[in-house]
Amino acid sequence: MRLLRLYRALHDRFGPQRWWPGRSAYEVAVGAVLTQHTAWLNAARAVAALRVRGLLRPERVAALPPDRLADVIRPAGTYRVKARRLAALTHWLMERHGGTWASVRRAPLEPLRRELLAVSGLGPETADAILLYAAGRPVFVADAYARRVLARHRLLDPRAGYEEARAFIEAHLPSDPALFNEYHALLVAAAKRHCRTVPRCADCPLRFDLRGRRPAPASS
Ligand code: SF4
Repeated sequence: MRLLRLYRALHDRFGPQRWWPGRSAYEVAVGAVLTQHTAWLNAARAVAALRVRGLLRPERVAALPPDRLADVIRPAGTYRVKARRLAALTHWLMERHGGTWASVRRAPLEPLRRELLAVSGLGPETADAILLYAAGRPVFVADAYARRVLARHRLLDPRAGYEEARAFIEAHLPSDPALFNEYHALLVAAAKRHCRTVPRCADCPLRFDLRGRRPAPASS
C-alpha cells in the first residue's frame, strides 16, 4: 500500500527520528503546548527551565501562581498565553485523570479526544500530539507538513483540512501508535529538508512516487 511504501522510503533515508523528547508523559505534554507557534529550541529552553525548578510535575504546576509560571516559561514566547494553556491542561489532568497518565492511556479514545479539545487553547494538532506522543494513543498528527507532502503526491486534496487529512491517514494505515509516531516525525523531516515552499524533489527519498510527474499544488 502506497502510504506504507512512502513510510519505508523515508525511514530508509532518514532513520528513526525518536520523537518526542521528554522524560515523562507530562513533560511531553508540556512540550506540546510550549512549542505552539515557536521553534522547538525555544520550547526546549522553557522545558529545561521548568525542570531545573522541579516543576515538571502536574501537582507543582497546579500550585504555581499564573504570573510565576509565565515567568519561568518566558523562553517559549507568548508566555502569558502559554502559561494559561499549561495551567488549563494541568487542571484537566488533575481533575479528570487524578494527575496521572494511566487513565489517559486506557480511556475510550473519541470521548478522551473531545475532552482534550475542550481544554482552553488546545487545538487539534496540540491535542493529538499529546494523545500520540504523551499517551501513546493511535491518533495521527496531520499537521501542515504532513498535509503538504501528501497533497503534492496527490494523496490528499490540497484544500484538505486537519480533520480530513487525519481521517484519511488513519483509515489507510494500521492503527499503530509507534507507526504514527515515526511516520509523522519522518514527514516533518521530509518537509523541512526537501518538501519546502518550493519543493526540492531531485534528491528527495519520495521522488520515486511522483513517477516522473511534477508535484501537485499544495496549499502550504
Ligand atoms: S520534495 Fe518532491 S518528491 Fe519530496 S516530498 Fe515534496 S513533492 Fe515529493
